[in-house]
Amino acid sequence: MSKVSVATIASHSALQILMGAKQEGFETVLICLRDRVSVYKRFSHLIDHFIIINNYNDIMRSNVQKTLLDLNSIIIPHGSFIEYVGINNIYDLEPPVFGNRKLLEWESDQFKKLALLRDAGIPVPRTYSVNEDIDRLVIVKLPGAKGGRGYFLARDREELLSKASYLEIDLNNVLIQEYVIGAPMYFHYFYSLVLDRLELLGSDLRYESNVDGLKRIPFRIADPTFTVVGNIPIVLRESLLSKVFDYGERFVKLSKKRIPPGVIGPFCLEAICTSDLDIIVFEFSGRIVAGTNLYMMGSPYSWLYFSEPMSMGRRIAREIKLAIENNMLSKITS
Ligand code: AMP
Repeated sequence: MSKVSVATIASHSALQILMGAKQEGFETVLICLRDRVSVYKRFSHLIDHFIIINNYNDIMRSNVQKTLLDLNSIIIPHGSFIEYVGINNIYDLEPPVFGNRKLLEWESDQFKKLALLRDAGIPVPRTYSVNEDIDRLVIVKLPGAKGGRGYFLARDREELLSKASYLEIDLNNVLIQEYVIGAPMYFHYFYSLVLDRLELLGSDLRYESNVDGLKRIPFRIADPTFTVVGNIPIVLRESLLSKVFDYGERFVKLSKKRIPPGVIGPFCLEAICTSDLDIIVFEFSGRIVAGTNLYMMGSPYSWLYFSEPMSMGRRIAREIKLAIENNMLSKITS
């Protein structure tokens, strides 16, 4: 077999993925929109091959696929991947994709995603149907919303209906979820199929506009919004770790059963920790998350496993390397 290369799309956590692949000795390939090339050329020491495209539909073109196949590329999916490739195209991509493509499809459905968490025995917020009475604060999530954009809060049914009508939102298509009061926390896991080991490689919280700005003003001036603008590192109170590992293990176990072969590599549970130290998980991501960009040189947790800087991008490349050495490459790709 010719040498494997690591490919990704120029967005989200691409620089981290490319750097990690280089650290592990792989050739790298970047699929890049023409108008972003000038940014990524600044990091050309991390990129062996550019595949330049005019728009994201070009990713599905046969010449792009052929170049990736000729370079023996494994594509690393990230948060922009589904958005750009499109959920309907994901199975038509010919080169191997790191991890389980089916999990990415699952991730794009907010109802299926919550059901998976709930069925795994992980505490999730209560969900309301459109006709139900609203007995507590709820957050209304629009389908396909990127980074929390357009979400809104409602305290009761009347407020829900009037806001939906004002915003011209069809409530049949949204997720109406209990708003859990507490501290947001996002746990970055890596499930290694080669080592059969769940690792916690970091955690962060998101900096969101305007909800994080509102607390600077002592009186109520506007409704909160939840547009993610950045990420902030956190280390967890150590006594939370048993729950964090338990929920991670539960997720790995049920995903193997429901979406075989289950989660492979990075995933994230997105949660609120309440003042009673309950961890309520409202979302998962079945791939690398942008919060891992905080830890390009490793996090306090990754140092507990590896005595060298280990970003999530590098951990992915390390898994590919281990899989090649153990003749397991076909098991960690789909
Ligand atoms: P999401 O798009 O689901 O990741 O949510 C975007 C942001 O909305 C999160 O980072 C939280 O700040 C907030 N959020 C989402 N769901 C909940 C919830 N059930 N309770 C409290 N905050 C939430």
